Amino acid sequence: MSTKEIPYKIYLNENEIPKEWYNVRADMKNKPAPLLNPATLNPITAEELSAVFCEELVKQELDDDTAYFPIPEEIRNFYKMYRPSPLVRAYCLEKELDTPAHIYYKFEGNNTSGSHKLNSAIAQAYYAKEQGLKGVTTETGAGQWGTALSMACSYFGLDCRVFMVKVSYEQKPHRREVMRTYGANVTPSPSMETEVGRKINAEFPGTNGSLGCAISEAVEAATSNEGYRYALGSVLSQVMLHQSIIGLETKAALDKYGVKPDIIIGCAGGGSNLGGLIAPFMGEKLRGEADYRFIAVETASCPSLTRGRYVYDFCDTGKVCPLAKMYTLGSGFMPSPSHAGGLRYHGMSSALSQLYHDGFMEARSVGQTEVFDAGVQFARVEGILPAPESNHAIRCAIDEALKCRETGEEKNIVFGLTGTGYFDLVAYGKYNDGTMSDYVPTEDDLAKGFAGLPNVNE
Ligand SMILES: *Cc1c(COP(=O)(O)O)cnc(C)c1O
Repeated sequence: MSTKEIPYKIYLNENEIPKEWYNVRADMKNKPAPLLNPATLNPITAEELSAVFCEELVKQELDDDTAYFPIPEEIRNFYKMYRPSPLVRAYCLEKELDTPAHIYYKFEGNNTSGSHKLNSAIAQAYYAKEQGLKGVTTETGAGQWGTALSMACSYFGLDCRVFMVKVSYEQKPHRREVMRTYGANVTPSPSMETEVGRKINAEFPGTNGSLGCAISEAVEAATSNEGYRYALGSVLSQVMLHQSIIGLETKAALDKYGVKPDIIIGCAGGGSNLGGLIAPFMGEKLRGEADYRFIAVETASCPSLTRGRYVYDFCDTGKVCPLAKMYTLGSGFMPSPSHAGGLRYHGMSSALSQLYHDGFMEARSVGQTEVFDAGVQFARVEGILPAPESNHAIRCAIDEALKCRETGEEKNIVFGLTGTGYFDLVAYGKYNDGTMSDYVPTEDDLAKGFAGLPNVNE
């Protein structure tokens, strides 16, 4: 154990940015179940997936065995513009909570897109460019992913078409303008521009849209236009691979001071930031070298891990994507319009689902108002206005630190502060006005989602 005093911010230098991503699947004894072709229900082949994704990304997606993937030089150079991200010791929050716990957070909001999503966007754009494509299509919920991909595409001179969940398109005009400024074409979803969008509009007139629905539109736009592929900002194993940069940097920073985390916490939408943050630590746990507690925090309005089923499901509402075995609420589940747009996906990364199923990770769900209580408490002492999604992780970190106050334990708590809340001021306004809703789906709401699960499950 080192006796060096730990600074407020532990920075790594540029040369300490990892040179390889880490693939946690390589160390999993029970591999995530394979993706299935929605037409044949057989495990999907690389060739079939290549109609949707870039070839190099298909390789990463299907590789459960290679532990390390070199990060291409051009991606690393882009990373150097905004990474390494700081790991902050939350001294002021510890004091505010009067806790003996040591709290650290990894802040991913220091780039224009405002979140960790840029880490994968730049990788996906790079491989599209390498393959000589014209452009990529995608969906975006709260707008963070669309913004990140727009930035990445403009950097590599690629066209970017974004289908934005309608409720966010209306609530977040500023996000839309950032995307357009970076040259992206942004369409509210469901739109009338795709077959699947027209169908969903006919079936659910006036719908707010959902991520699952926007994904279907973006996939259709990619597969029906020559020279385009689809890019997804979460859920997939390739995305978790790219996001491992978060965890690798965190581990490198903590190792400098001899700090071993006891608890590692992340908010969980599709699982990419959490999966990335915990990856190298989970690797140690899986190999029996160390033990950690991992906690996934989801919104009570879309509780896939805590109330969902672990089955094969469609990844999108239009049922055009491969099926994944994951904790899911059903692809037809329509979450209430909570403000943590990035946590409104019906399923969870299949690798994280398997790890949760095998008992390597815990999960809890939290309500919107208590989440903002935590976010505001954090903002007032730590000086960063967090994204609503990140507030979920903050809630859990504060709760764990308060438990330490009871027990007197000096635990090391690390959490992922995934983004900034500058684009979420409508949500903060509701909180400040006391008009935030805390809708939690009833058993009946969930039953409707489960009723749409496909028939491939035993
Ligand atoms: C998208 C997003 C999330 C949730 O996505 P994951 O894939 O679960 O990480 C969390 N926080 C922010 C700020 C986001 O933009």
